Amino acid sequence: MEQTISCKKCGKSHMGIIRSKKITEYRVLQDKLSLGTMSFKGNWKTEQTSSKSKTQLKCLACETIIKDGDDLNGCGGFKFDKKDEVLFYTDFWENLNS
Ligand SMILES: [Zn+2]
Repeated sequence: MEQTISCKKCGKSHMGIIRSKKITEYRVLQDKLSLGTMSFKGNWKTEQTSSKSKTQLKCLACETIIKDGDDLNGCGGFKFDKKDEVLFYTDFWENLNS
């Protein structure tokens, strides 16, 4: 039987994957530094963008980051398996024990 998976918080199943990357930017300070307050207005320049990205499941209806199966109805948990795939696995064994 096919089970519908939904967000435990809002009951909806409008989910998405979010990806966050770490980016380091810099602004140049003026050449002559002196005591006191120095402004660092100007454009941010990219110093480094991490190639690693963090992938997370998010409920797009209520903006909750879904951490594990406890945040979902009809599902024991999930994991990011291969590239661009997320595996939702059963809560069958949990229900059997409770
Ligand atoms: Zn939700």
